[in-house]
Amino acid sequence: MKLCFLLILSLFAYENIDEAFKSEKKHSVEHLMKKVRERIRPFKWDATFFHDKGWLIGGYSVNGMPLLYWTCGDPKSENRSLVLSAVHGDEVTPVYYGFRLVEWVKARPKVCEDKFIVVAPLVNPDGFLRYSNGTRTNYNKVDLNRNFSTPEWAENAHQLWRERYSQRRRYYPGKQADSQPETFFQKWLIQEFKVHKILSVHAPLNILDYDGPRSVAGDELLKAYSESCYDLKKQVVKATPSLKFYAYGTFPGSLGNYAGKYLGIPTLTTELPSTNASNAPKYFADMEKGNQVFFDFLIKDKPRYLKERGQKRIQASQESDKGKDAL
Ligand SMILES: [Zn+2]
Repeated sequence: MKLCFLLILSLFAYENIDEAFKSEKKHSVEHLMKKVRERIRPFKWDATFFHDKGWLIGGYSVNGMPLLYWTCGDPKSENRSLVLSAVHGDEVTPVYYGFRLVEWVKARPKVCEDKFIVVAPLVNPDGFLRYSNGTRTNYNKVDLNRNFSTPEWAENAHQLWRERYSQRRRYYPGKQADSQPETFFQKWLIQEFKVHKILSVHAPLNILDYDGPRSVAGDELLKAYSESCYDLKKQVVKATPSLKFYAYGTFPGSLGNYAGKYLGIPTLTTELPSTNASNAPKYFADMEKGNQVFFDFLIKDKPRYLKERGQKRIQASQESDKGKDAL
């Protein structure tokens, strides 16, 4: 019944997509990266991380910028990780983080051994490139971390925006859930590669947050799986003493809510301590061990759980996305 409702909601959302979404504009990777290099010039970052080569394209932003991702390892591995960076365009330290991470993994071939890693270093290119300081939101002025189709979205997203955020545009969840190509891009990465764990990189709250499956009394399989997911969180927190763990909670349409709670995929959110670009290399260095632990961690009871429970939800969600031609 719930899935049926989501399917209807989802189709309805497609009818209401902003005009800009339908743009046929498609820029090249070279064009995007030229713009990115121009934008980061004042930060004095190592520009060699921001190159044109080796990127895969998982869709196009509202303004026609390619949505980049990079993979390494074996897609059939039982240890598949996804890193999503720079979802909010005014948070510049995660931009460094995402691009630096790709080069960091490339320089350490062992990191990918017996694993599969996907990194999307710049989920919101339009927000990052807009105006001189970027915007949290995408080109349609939608907060991408409020736009995922979570079960309570229709009922609560707008109410929360009005009451908690006084309708501040930077937290606008969109007219409909799943109405933005950058949201589809993230969902597509999760579904296409059937990832087992997700790390999302933000700033500047200086915390590590976790969302994942919760055990239910009497469900031993779920208990074992959720405990293993929680152990991932504990190990990453231990390996990252520079960031304090804080359960920030979820919002209608947030990634932690969609992937962590709804799909049951352990989702860690790193909030780097500031958006001060000159600190970005230090923040990355502080997270190196945490990254390694995150990639290495093999979640127990995952295949069975995801096969029997999680993947059903993922498949149902894929069904509802059919015909949208978002990517
Ligand atoms: Zn953020």
